[in-house]
Amino acid sequence: MFSTPEISSDVLITRITYVEVTGKSPKMIGKNAVKDDHGDTNRERLVRVFTNSGHEGFGVTRATADAIEAETPKTLGVNPASLVDAEQGITLRGIEHALWDLIGKITGKPVYALLGASCRDTIDAYDGGLYFCDLVYPELGLARVGQEAAESVAQGHRAIKMKIGRGHKWMPPEEGFSRDVDAIRLVRQTIGPDIKLMVDGNNGFDEAGAERLLEAVGDQDIYWAEEMFPETIEDYTKFRAFLDRNGLKTLIADGETLAEPSSLYPFIEQRLIDVVQLDTTQIGLSAWWRLAAFSQIHNRLCAPHTWGSRFAVYATAHLGKVIPNFLSDEIPAYDPDAYHPTGFTFKDGAYTVSDMPGWGLEIDEQIYQSKYAPIERQWQE
Ligand SMILES: [Mg+2]
Repeated sequence: MFSTPEISSDVLITRITYVEVTGKSPKMIGKNAVKDDHGDTNRERLVRVFTNSGHEGFGVTRATADAIEAETPKTLGVNPASLVDAEQGITLRGIEHALWDLIGKITGKPVYALLGASCRDTIDAYDGGLYFCDLVYPELGLARVGQEAAESVAQGHRAIKMKIGRGHKWMPPEEGFSRDVDAIRLVRQTIGPDIKLMVDGNNGFDEAGAERLLEAVGDQDIYWAEEMFPETIEDYTKFRAFLDRNGLKTLIADGETLAEPSSLYPFIEQRLIDVVQLDTTQIGLSAWWRLAAFSQIHNRLCAPHTWGSRFAVYATAHLGKVIPNFLSDEIPAYDPDAYHPTGFTFKDGAYTVSDMPGWGLEIDEQIYQSKYAPIERQWQE
């Protein structure tokens, strides 16, 4: 249940803005099993919501400007508290995250406190940026993989996820398979036994291929195997039986590509996946909160996908504060210039969330006004 925020009825939403902002990665991000080079730049859709009380909230959405415009009859001139439904939370997808921030700022509470009671002090997060860097720097090859893994640990990460599946599109199948195995062994050797290591196949294997891979690296303490192959009940039942038969503790993680959670329910109910991973900005915080509650009933863990949006990392940290079955946040390589995580600290592989009202994020007005304000779209009363 979502509680109705205490906001005076004369507070009304007067203006909404939308603009795409840019993030930069300090390193080039290469291919994964299915997608070509990701590059060193990304974009997020930033929404700001203003009220007649002088408050403002912002957030990132997957919705387009046109979708936000289509929602304006339900948002402009409306009291923010009236947009929170007791069962569903906030269902306006375009401004949902901006609204959580706004409500937090009006009521003086961090967003997580609007969702429930805190159940942990720190939020574990993993480095999601270890792509096929050996293919970005062919002259370095595997050595580059070891180098990036070492840098990740030096930056304070305590868990790393690496992409595998080179043989799906980018290398001859057997050569790609061997490179994956060598890369996993090298990374484990580089980071040592105390750092968690996960692998992500981006559906670049089939079930038999996933078994073969896990047979080859079963001694490398793989914490979870993500999207090894497209999910069907039949294949996941087989894969689960394979892991059990071989005494492998590797968790099965999946769900990032789904636009909404319901197609994953059978896998959750039948305990065929261990780690639920829908994308935070794709489904929104309210839907994730409900999905976490459903997953909790079936004793499944939650590690929301955030790659592609730094904002999603911070929103996910708030979710992680209040859901008991939270496992990990994900840290993408890209860092935006338009806002900064004032209310967050990162140490020993985990975030601490301050009690700043809203997300604990601040717009960089100097950059926003010069670079983004001239190209923003806006709607007002
Ligand atoms: Mg993935």
